[in-house]
Amino acid sequence: MKVSEIKTPVSSIAGIGPQLTKTLAKVNVFTVGDLLQYFPRDYEDRTRKVCFREQAANYGKVHTVAQVVAHEWFGYGRMKTLKIIVNDGTGTAELICFNRAFLEKSLVPGTIITVTGKFEVKYGKLQSTAFEAVKHEEYSHSELGSESGNRSRNEFGMTDLSSIAPKESGIIPIYPLTEGLTQKAVSKAVSHALQQYSLGIENEIPQELIEKHQLLSKQEAIRLIHRPTEITQAAAARRTLVYEELFQFQSVIAKRVFERKGLCLKNETGNPEINTSSNTEMQVQPDTGITESTFTSSLSPLQLDFFNSLPFPLTDDQRKVIYEMDAEIDRSYQERERVLNQLDRGMPPPTTPTFTMARLLQGDVGSGKTLVSLFVCLRIISWKGQCAFMAPTEILARQHAETTARLLAPLGVRTAFLTGNLRAKGRNQLLRALKEGEIDIVVGTHALFSANVEYKDMELAVIDEQHRFGVLQRQAIVEKGRQVIGGFTFEPNLLMMSATPIPQSLALTVFGDLDISSIHTMPAGRKPITTYLVKEGNEMNAYEAVRKELAQGHQAYFVYPAIDSDENIKSAERIFAHLRDHIYPQYKCALVHSKIEEEEQVNILRAFRDGAIQVLAATTVIEVGVDVPNATCMVIEGADRFGMAQLHQLRGRVGRGDAQSYCFLIYSKDITETGIERMKALRQSTDGFYIAEQDLKTRGPGELNGTVQAGELGFRIADLSRDMEIMQQARTDAISFISR
Ligand code: ADP
Ligand code: MG
Repeated sequence: MKVSEIKTPVSSIAGIGPQLTKTLAKVNVFTVGDLLQYFPRDYEDRTRKVCFREQAANYGKVHTVAQVVAHEWFGYGRMKTLKIIVNDGTGTAELICFNRAFLEKSLVPGTIITVTGKFEVKYGKLQSTAFEAVKHEEYSHSELGSESGNRSRNEFGMTDLSSIAPKESGIIPIYPLTEGLTQKAVSKAVSHALQQYSLGIENEIPQELIEKHQLLSKQEAIRLIHRPTEITQAAAARRTLVYEELFQFQSVIAKRVFERKGLCLKNETGNPEINTSSNTEMQVQPDTGITESTFTSSLSPLQLDFFNSLPFPLTDDQRKVIYEMDAEIDRSYQERERVLNQLDRGMPPPTTPTFTMARLLQGDVGSGKTLVSLFVCLRIISWKGQCAFMAPTEILARQHAETTARLLAPLGVRTAFLTGNLRAKGRNQLLRALKEGEIDIVVGTHALFSANVEYKDMELAVIDEQHRFGVLQRQAIVEKGRQVIGGFTFEPNLLMMSATPIPQSLALTVFGDLDISSIHTMPAGRKPITTYLVKEGNEMNAYEAVRKELAQGHQAYFVYPAIDSDENIKSAERIFAHLRDHIYPQYKCALVHSKIEEEEQVNILRAFRDGAIQVLAATTVIEVGVDVPNATCMVIEGADRFGMAQLHQLRGRVGRGDAQSYCFLIYSKDITETGIERMKALRQSTDGFYIAEQDLKTRGPGELNGTVQAGELGFRIADLSRDMEIMQQARTDAISFISR
């Protein structure tokens, strides 16, 4: 039986009453299977006796056998507190019993106890306020020393104590708790569950993988994760369970990949320069750059027109990923044609899907992803298909719509902008044109997949800043392009873009069913942004530095922490007013935030882009997309209240032209130590990939979900900040297993 199939309710375990059943439900433990999979979050090593004398050498931790020597009291009235003096033969220590006066009765002088806890030297005495004391009943001599203050020695001399083994020794599991749940209760319940139910738990991964990686059996792993006798056993158990979890996860992903791409559709693109076997290898990228001439001769006429209209050369990485994606688009069309032909001739639809592109294009902010996506759109348009280009915010969508129209309309491409705000008349016209196939690229927000939007032949969905969209929304836009012909389902191509670089390792997991292209090189002529850390109180330094830039005709951004409450708006407005009236009275300043009306926001941004405004104060509405090369300063107030990725994004708003740019991170006085570390990482590097890795490192386990918006991963035991190697291994194994 699989452990998850043990559906017996926890209440049927001896010793678990209605109260505990309720408490366990709070941590999602309902069945015995759940309980067995309620894994310790850590362990305490109590395998060794550590006496008082050794305390300092053991980080203050003590696990010893001692005898109660005396009771003392300190404090008055309600504050009166019991102090129990104990001696373990190597030294004397004091147990401070805050709110535990009842110990006076149970730990009378003479009692032998195992003392466990953290001790420190205070006022010259060894003390602990958080200790555990377990009586050695076998040595109970209640007649001894029962009068308080009796410090005389008893029949158990100090030498005797040293020969008594401490109780509750071994490796103690530490479970995650919630209010009302104690370590003891969980531990006891788990022990019962192990005794009564753990026999017959079966393995869930192939035997050969267990052997290959020298894993434990599932049953053994479950037992040892809860009840190891040595720390190495706990580690082995954990490794087994993590591997199993990640293998299962990767198997699901691998299956999806093969369902989408099919297994046997290789080498049909007719383009001999491209290695089309990449469909079974995933994430394969050509290692070498593509030469200019190879690249230009691979372009479609429309793409070539566009290429020739650009005032700058493409970067190597841009060429590489365009080339790569062109080949995939071609292949998807060729396979599609082949199947359509078959259907035409009355043959039954194939059982495997045709190939379509499904790519995540990641590249640092400012690396030129938009341009790449436009090339990909043009490839589709060359094939007579339609493209939907989706952005998360109205502002960004509008900007993309403007760029697209400006760059592509001259080439005869029919572009459109679909927003939720569009008035009925214009909207209906647009929808009709879209349905008739009179529009080649439609740019927009979520509106692109509203119920009443129909496409004639949408063959490519581009999703910019994809991390801002939920899984369902990404799905919804793809579905708009799905076509069923003759009983066969054709999927559209998918290009997702992200400027929040996801470490390769993590990307593999979260977007494991996508291929990944990365742009590492920045357009020529960009100078790395110089970043300064400024402590709250020293803002003037930053303001003055900005003033110099303004004097030279450059522009600046000021960013305040998210405006989500009225209070925050007020504070942003107050700081802004100060800036405008007292710091830069001679310059034109404006403030934008999400509560300002849409049209007004757009107007302000446009004025900033045109240089009519020099200082733009904003909230994170400008986090993505805004592209003003003349802006050279980014001042972020309350920087420690932003995430690292977000700060990196914000900083990426400057450094877009040839001039040197600056970023000032103003952090609060009570910043945490990790906070400072994050700031320093940002100062040190402008490489988004590096920053993403650092971000991963400085985050505690469990915080990851936020970064990758992957709450749906929900691992039980795997922790992506420490188990990446296992993840890679599991992935390789899963792929080779599925592709057999
Ligand atoms: P992002 O990857 O952040 O979406 P964009 O596509 O917005 O970046 O590009 C940032 C800026 O760089 C734009 O102004 C764009 O026109 C410009 N750009 C893109 N590619 C190049 C290039 N190869 N050389 C010079 N500038 C480029
Ligand atoms: Mg972009």
